Amino acid sequence: MDKKNRNALIAGNWKMNMLASQVPAYWQGLEPGAKLGEGVSSALCVPFPLIPAVKAALAGSQVKVGAQDVSSHDKGAYTGEVSAAMLADLGVDYCIIGHSERRAYHAESDELVNEKLKALLGAGITPIMCCGESLEQRDAGVTLSFVESQIKGGLAGISAEDMKKVVIAYEPIWAIGTGRTATAEQAQEVCGYIRGVLAGLYGQELAKGVQVLYGGSMNGKNAAELLAQPDIDGGLIGGASLKPEFADIIGAANEG
Ligand code: PEP
Repeated sequence: MDKKNRNALIAGNWKMNMLASQVPAYWQGLEPGAKLGEGVSSALCVPFPLIPAVKAALAGSQVKVGAQDVSSHDKGAYTGEVSAAMLADLGVDYCIIGHSERRAYHAESDELVNEKLKALLGAGITPIMCCGESLEQRDAGVTLSFVESQIKGGLAGISAEDMKKVVIAYEPIWAIGTGRTATAEQAQEVCGYIRGVLAGLYGQELAKGVQVLYGGSMNGKNAAELLAQPDIDGGLIGGASLKPEFADIIGAANEG
């Protein structure tokens, strides 16, 4: 299986933006361009309280709804937490885990990301597991070894069968929300390396089937070049997913 046989995924990450009351107008602006070509999937990963409104707006569209985090616990005395079963019950299909903002502001470790990943798989939700280096790590030349450790930590104990249901997103921290996109070569180098790490863990054939996304200031202008790279199967998009421009990225995937 090569890139031609892997589906593309264009996933938006709204972060802590938008109100439920703004969703209908947002969708009116996006919908005309949000037509998915063959082999292209898309999802909007939105704040928990907005899930029902987004789900309602997207009814009849092929664009799916995702969340941005999940509890590692099943249920019980975990005030403020949201379980994978609760997300599944709302019809959530995807969930981001291990985003660098959660690692930075909520001290999320690879071990916790691994527990969250298992919770999502148990509930039938596709995890989008993020990894990526800081600028200091890139400058120190440890990008590949650091990303490898995140991948191996996050996937600890995950069977080959379950790995087929996991999406990986490479997001260099220095490119997130900064307008400074990784060059297509930089993004391809790390995404290709990630596929190699997956091949070491699960074998070539399985690794060739895993969707590896790039995230970090992807927009309507740079998407086509990034998505043309052999190991980049889609994007995780923050800022641009809040605007009708998100449809241009879907369009670039449709043409890829
Ligand atoms: C993100 O938050 O996952 C992201 C990639 O953000 P942005 O596109 O704004 O850089």
